[in-house]
Amino acid sequence: MQQAQIDRLRAAVIPAQQLFIGGRPAPAISEARLDVVSPIDGQVLTSIADGDAADVDAAVRRARQAFEQGSWSRAAPAQRKKVLLRFADLIEQHALEIAVLGVRDNGTEIGMAYKAEPLSAAGTIRYYAEAIDKVYGEIAPTSGDVLGLVHREPLGVVGVIVPWNFPLMIGAWKIGPALAAGNSVVVKPPELASLTLLRLAELAAEAGLPDGVLNVVTGRGSSAGEALALHMDVDVLAFTGSGAVGRRLLECSARSNLKRVHLELGGKSPNIVFADAPDIRHAAKVSASGIFRNSGQVCVAGSRLLVQSSIYDRFMAELLDATAKLRVGDPLELTSDIGAISSKAQLRKNLDAVAHAEAQGATRLVGGEQIRVESGGNFMAPAILTEVTATMQVWREEVFGPVLAVTRFEGEEDAIALANATPYGLASAVWTASLSMAHRMVRAIKAGVVHVNAYGGADITVPLGGFKQSGFGRDKSLHALDAYTDLKTAWIAL
Ligand code: NAD
Repeated sequence: MQQAQIDRLRAAVIPAQQLFIGGRPAPAISEARLDVVSPIDGQVLTSIADGDAADVDAAVRRARQAFEQGSWSRAAPAQRKKVLLRFADLIEQHALEIAVLGVRDNGTEIGMAYKAEPLSAAGTIRYYAEAIDKVYGEIAPTSGDVLGLVHREPLGVVGVIVPWNFPLMIGAWKIGPALAAGNSVVVKPPELASLTLLRLAELAAEAGLPDGVLNVVTGRGSSAGEALALHMDVDVLAFTGSGAVGRRLLECSARSNLKRVHLELGGKSPNIVFADAPDIRHAAKVSASGIFRNSGQVCVAGSRLLVQSSIYDRFMAELLDATAKLRVGDPLELTSDIGAISSKAQLRKNLDAVAHAEAQGATRLVGGEQIRVESGGNFMAPAILTEVTATMQVWREEVFGPVLAVTRFEGEEDAIALANATPYGLASAVWTASLSMAHRMVRAIKAGVVHVNAYGGADITVPLGGFKQSGFGRDKSLHALDAYTDLKTAWIAL
């Protein structure tokens, strides 16, 4: 990746975008549009179609038609694999173009976006393509006079709703297994970052995915999103986003056709550093990037830091040093470690969270203010708050910004109680040289993932999802296929 290539791509004019239904672009029936505002300089980049219930209905009908027609749903898994591998190759071939498009839309630093968005999406599609012709049904252990077969079938029409922080990576975690299993899909991208998912649909068509199997309806959550959740002919809804919207989707399911709903929600993940951590400097560096990369707009971000008292001063000095080295800047400059915050509203929310924490008695050690104001974009200096207690809002509630809440602890029990003092349970980390301590913490922490001497980086081979109010869906790994398939029994008298 060269700066000159990035500069060329960022200069490209982005045409006004349409919906993608039935294998081709289509305008919203109402012809309504939404401006796309760049988080980098506050300028209008382009516009997207403001789809609503009528467009969602058209997309779902097209998806159902494709499903029933069977050229994808009943194709041999090896045939689906061929198309999906071509799809993954195309995403990879266009990776830089897609990454730059996404950064212009949501502000993630390019180094991270390139790997986490197109490259990760291509890897995910390839993983499920490779898997799908290796998944067998079952023969039940019945008596000899019958044959019990357990078939695994696609569900039908899958609705996908994703957030703006990593729309492609998270989208692919759902689209990949759903398509591989033979379903048709309707995606509702986040209104703050729709462009890459639209591009993804074009590449799927180019790869040979039959028309109508993958559709994209852009628009607002409250109209297009909710219409998808309420649609009577959507069989399953796979969602990543906030808890408030997750609750709403469960209600929509109850009020419509009882569609299955898989929820991947927010987090307030504890990062626990014991005095015997193998390498304090490394732990501090990884802890800083574990909260501050992508301006903290990462569901698994280690937003609560717990440091054992005996090494607190030493660790905090290393943490400050590591944080000072992270350069906040134009996300399309390769020298920037942290890019822009997705929207003015999110920036405001982050600044307010810092002010509120201070008002509740936390100490602002560094950062927490808006910077690069002259750019017109949304930038914030990473904030470290100390003397945070378990009753403060900043300890319990997700900010989804570059805000780290720090506290100290004495011993193991203390650390476990503080770590679990939140309604969330998405991710966590423990830094220790003791194998037994690490395993005890893995058992004690209520979270979907416990990193040991690491933060982040868990690949596609392992599931991701929450405990408690972080949701109950599981993306990634072969387990994700369960969400997009159903079991059917054949009971055959012999
Ligand atoms: P959000 O819940 O506001 O929006 C997510 C998506 O839901 C968007 O596409 C939005 O348009 C849509 N939506 C909004 N209202 C809707 C409605 N009434 N009906 C249907 N759809 C609706 O979340 P966000 O602000 O885009 O993303 C940030 C949140 O996502 C954070 O809470 C973060 O932790 C969470 N997140 C979780 C994971 C995970 O894997 N668990 C990953 C990334 C982000």
